[in-house]
Order: sequence, then structure tokens, then C-alpha cells
Amino acid sequence: MSCLTAPTQPLDCRSDGSCVEKNAAGQPKELVCIRCPLGCTLQGQLAEGEWHVEGNRCPRGEAYFIKEATSPSRTVTGLVRVAGGQLPVVSVKTVPEVPKDRVMDVARGLAALEALAPVSIGQVLEDDFLGTGASLIATKSVGKKA
Ligand code: SF4
Repeated sequence: MSCLTAPTQPLDCRSDGSCVEKNAAGQPKELVCIRCPLGCTLQGQLAEGEWHVEGNRCPRGEAYFIKEATSPSRTVTGLVRVAGGQLPVVSVKTVPEVPKDRVMDVARGLAALEALAPVSIGQVLEDDFLGTGASLIATKSVGKKA
């Protein structure tokens, strides 16, 4: 099924362009587990406030499904400009993950940010970045320009 056809139920897009069918509450009822290369197809039903997951070959699949269905989140990685650095930018990531619906806010926020050299790997550049509760951490060191 393509997301471009008129859906009878709400759909969400996977990174490979395929679709995730959602239940009436807007939560996915089928998705592929990405916790290991086996890629189990998981189906979940919400009944009386509890998710019942099938198709998983191990407990990690159930935990993955429930997290995706209830509070999906992602690690955002990107580049931040560095003033006075040996390199013009430093790579960063969010720790912990940010809510999925804030990913684009964070990506735009990175573009507006500038760090001051030197920057050390593991350095916290921002706490609670944009109110997401996640810190922005440098994943590379950038020395000061001589
Ligand atoms: S459910 Fe378990 S075995 Fe299946 S893909 Fe996920 S992690 Fe791998």
C-alpha cells in the first residue's frame, strides 16, 4: 500500500517509504522490529489499556513495539558551527533521545547554534535543548584555531 493512495485508516511513513497502518487511536498496529537483523513483523492490539504484541521472537520486540506505539523517540545527530575552531563545525547528538515529534525542531535548532572553540568530545553544549529534556553532546573534539 502506498501512502499516496487515499487511506481508509491513518498511515505513517517508514524510512524506506513503506507505510505503517495505524489503529483508530492513531497508533501503529504493525511494524518491523529493528532491534536485530531478524526484522520480526510485530502486530499489536490495545485492549483495556494494555498492548498485546505478537510476532516478536524475543522480549526486545515487545518493548520496541510498545515504545513506538506510546512514546516514539529518536536520537538526533547533526553539526553545529564552531567559532574560532580548527574545523568550522562539530558533530553532535542528543542524549537521551528526543520525542519523535520534536525531531525537526531540534534539527532546525542545531542550524541556529554556534559553539565556541575549543570543544571536547563528550562536552555538553546545551542542557535541555529546546525544552526536549535532552542534552546536546559533542561527538568530536575541535581545537582552537592557532
Ligand atoms: S523481536 Fe527480537 S528477534 Fe525479532 S527482530 Fe526484534 S530483537 Fe530481533
